[in-house]
Amino acid sequence: MKLRKAYRFRMRPTKTQEVGLYRMAGARRFIYNWALSRRKSYYAEHGKGISARELSSELTALKSKPETLWLKEADSQMLQQALRDVDRAFEALFKRRSRFPRLRSKKAGHFTFRIPQRVRVEDGRVYVPKVGWVRIRQSRGVEGTTKSATFKRDATGHWYVALTTEFEIPDVEPPAPVNPVGVDLGLKDLFVLSDGERVRAPRFARTAERRLGRVQKDLSRKKPGSRRREKAKRRVAGVHRKVSNQRSDFLHKLTTDLTREYDCICHEDLNTKGLAKTKLSRSVLDAAFGEFVRQVEYKATWSFKHSVRVGRFFPSAKLCSECGKVNVNMTLSDRMWLCECGTQHDRDLNAARNILAEGMRLLAAGQTESQNARGEPVSLPRGSTAR
Ligand SMILES: [Zn+2]
Repeated sequence: MKLRKAYRFRMRPTKTQEVGLYRMAGARRFIYNWALSRRKSYYAEHGKGISARELSSELTALKSKPETLWLKEADSQMLQQALRDVDRAFEALFKRRSRFPRLRSKKAGHFTFRIPQRVRVEDGRVYVPKVGWVRIRQSRGVEGTTKSATFKRDATGHWYVALTTEFEIPDVEPPAPVNPVGVDLGLKDLFVLSDGERVRAPRFARTAERRLGRVQKDLSRKKPGSRRREKAKRRVAGVHRKVSNQRSDFLHKLTTDLTREYDCICHEDLNTKGLAKTKLSRSVLDAAFGEFVRQVEYKATWSFKHSVRVGRFFPSAKLCSECGKVNVNMTLSDRMWLCECGTQHDRDLNAARNILAEGMRLLAAGQTESQNARGEPVSLPRGSTAR
C-alpha cells in the first residue's frame, strides 16, 4: 500500500536566497498570468482551447525573447508546473468545481511556487533549484520520495516549504494489539487515558484568545488603506500563526507519543459532548478534536498499528465499566458518580475504559478495517506543521 506524507518546515533563507525565492515566485506569477491570458486569446481566435503541448512550446519561445529573457533565471520545471496549475484551474472550472481562474497578484500575497519531484531535504536544509541549499527548521526526518514541494511566503513574511512524499507500507493488517488504550476527550483534562493518565488542556489557548481579541480590536480602529492598518493586519496574522503553531505542536507531540507507546488507540468518533461554553472556544476545541482524530489515525497507519473509532452513539460516559449497567440519570456536570453495583466512578476515566472495551470489541469483530486502510490526507490544514 502506498501512503503519502506531508511535511511543512519554516525556511531560513539568507538575504540573497530570499531575493532568489521572490524571483522564483515572481516568475511563477508572471507565467501563470501569461498562460491564463494566452488561453483566453487563443480561444477567442480559434474557437477551441490551446493544447498543453502548444502552450509549453510557446513558453520555450517566450524565454528567448529579449524582454522576457529573465525567465531563464527561474527553474524551467517550476514554470512548466505553473502551466499545469493553470490547466488544473480550467479543469476545475469545466467540472464546475470552481470559478474562472483569476490573475495572480503581489498584492493578494501570491508569493508561491511549486516544484515537482526533484526537491531534496538533507541536514536541516532544502535544495531549491536556482536558489541553492536553504536552511530550514527541520523538526524531523523526511521519509519516502518527494513527489512535490511548494514554497510559500505567508502573510507575515516568513517562507515555508511544504513537501509531499510517498512511501510503501506492507499491505496486510497490523498484528493483534497487546498494549491498547482508550482515550476520552474532555475539557478540563483534554485527554484521559484508560490507564489513568491525564493530559490537561494547554493554557496557551486561552491566553492567545485574549491576545487575538486585542489585536483584532486594534485592527478595526485603523483607517482602511492606511499603513497602520497594514501593520495591524500583520500583527493579527502573526497571532493566528502563533496559536495555530502552538496548538499543532501540542497535538502532534501528543498523538506521536500515543502511537509510539500503544499499539491500538481507541477513541471517539467526534467530540459529542458539547463541552465548551463560548462560541469561539467551542469552534477551537472542535477543530482540535477533529485534528486529534485525524492525526491518531494516520500516525497509527504509518507506524503499522491500529486505531479504532468508537461510534458517537456509544454511551461511553453513562455505562458502568465494572458491571455494564447504564446510568440514565447522569448529567453533564457529574464529575463523579456511584453505580448501583457500588463502584465509585470518575466520569472521564470510566468513559476511557468503556471506549477501550468497545474499541477492542469492534476490532475483534473486524469492523474497523476501512479505517486503518486510510492514508494521510495530503493537504495540510492551514497553518499546521506536520511531523
Ligand atoms: Zn456498576
